[in-house]
Amino acid sequence: MISPVYGRTSELVAKTRAVAQEVAAKHAADVDAKSRFPHETFEALRQARVLSAAVPKEFGGHGANMQELTEQCAALAQGCGASGMILAMHHIQVACIARHGAGDPYFAKYLTECVEKQLLIASITSEVGVWGDTRSSICAVERDGARYKLEKDATTVSYGEHADDLLVTCRRNADAPQSDQILVLVRKPDRTLTQTTTWDTLGMRGTCSPGFKMVASGPIEQILPGSFADASAQTMVSYSHIMWSGVWLGIALDAISKASAYVRAEARKKPGVVPTSAHRLAEAMVKVQEMRSNTAGQASEFDAIMAMPGGMDELLTMGWALKMNNIKVGSSEMAPRIVHDALQIVGIGGYKNDGKFSVGRNYRDSLSAALMISNERILAKTASMLLVYKDE
Ligand SMILES: Cc1cc2nc3c(=O)[nH]c(=O)nc-3n(C[C@H](O)[C@H](O)[C@H](O)COP(=O)(O)OP(=O)(O)OC[C@H]3O[C@@H](n4cnc5c(N)ncnc54)[C@H](O)[C@@H]3O)c2cc1C
Repeated sequence: MISPVYGRTSELVAKTRAVAQEVAAKHAADVDAKSRFPHETFEALRQARVLSAAVPKEFGGHGANMQELTEQCAALAQGCGASGMILAMHHIQVACIARHGAGDPYFAKYLTECVEKQLLIASITSEVGVWGDTRSSICAVERDGARYKLEKDATTVSYGEHADDLLVTCRRNADAPQSDQILVLVRKPDRTLTQTTTWDTLGMRGTCSPGFKMVASGPIEQILPGSFADASAQTMVSYSHIMWSGVWLGIALDAISKASAYVRAEARKKPGVVPTSAHRLAEAMVKVQEMRSNTAGQASEFDAIMAMPGGMDELLTMGWALKMNNIKVGSSEMAPRIVHDALQIVGIGGYKNDGKFSVGRNYRDSLSAALMISNERILAKTASMLLVYKDE
């Protein structure tokens, strides 16, 4: 495997890379063919105790920073794109809880439980009627004494049936506008999920993301303090777009490593002659470096901001929001291009689904990137921000 974001390896990344090579890569074709949850991979990640990578050290987790988490997701995605994406989505939810709820006694205890039991958390932001606009909710939480009630009709919920808990967006109360949202942690015994749509997709099939109607009721302390507006701007958007970028990089790296192996095999057939495909590989490596540098650069800039006093406020600026939009659009468009290059290099052997150089799954997985929060929606937001933003 080509080393992912940084080329240096922490223990956390080394353990995850071992799972990627020994478990995720082995089962990826079956996960994809059957559109099933990658149970073996997540059991191995649990055993290696790396699901709690994003939990701060004070609660027993690794306290991994953005660079390490991104590298970890990229490493897993090299073995199985869907598994890498599930891991990234899980870390995003953990980060929202750790960064916006850790001061609250319930959530402090919950973070310790996440480490002890290696819990897996999924997200429900999508909803019938608001579609891809994560900053709008129709459903509202109801408070009844010491308990909450929440019902949500969601369009897309990755690994909802396989997750321990769900972090769900909703309106603050029945009178609140659609944008006045909060997050509720819905624990497994407190919910029922009724599947409403199917998940027979081109790619990312192992994420198992059909629509569900969720009905939940639980203790009121499971409502995350503060607003989703802050959690989204200060945590969810940055963690999503940087770690997803790492996942898409991992998918592209897996394809390009197959193309590199193919070119080397070609070269061995005619010693002393550089195969034509090597030139195409040289061109593809320019894109790989751009994508790797962009991802690594945003991850390290995030960590540098968090090390600054008042760093959380910096994440609320228009300048940072634009950078996050740019990395999402840039990486999501670059990943399929790199995989396409790998296909052109390998030729028919890459097009066949059953060969050792097949890039079919990489290609199909990478096509989800532009849709996962639609690039059109993101570019429309960027366009309106650029009318007032001056980069000084
Ligand atoms: C692999 C995968 C996993 C996912 N997992 C989850 C999950 O776990 N939880 C969850 O809640 N959601 C999940 N989602 C859903 C995701 O968060 C988005 O809600 C969903 O992808 C958006 O669907 P959409 O394209 O119908 O919506 P929209 O964003 O509404 O887009 C619909 C169409 O309108 C266009 N459009 C939208 N806005 C604009 C605009 N302003 N200007 C121009 N055109 C516009 C888009 O280009 C698109 O063609 C997942 C999606 C994918 C692909």
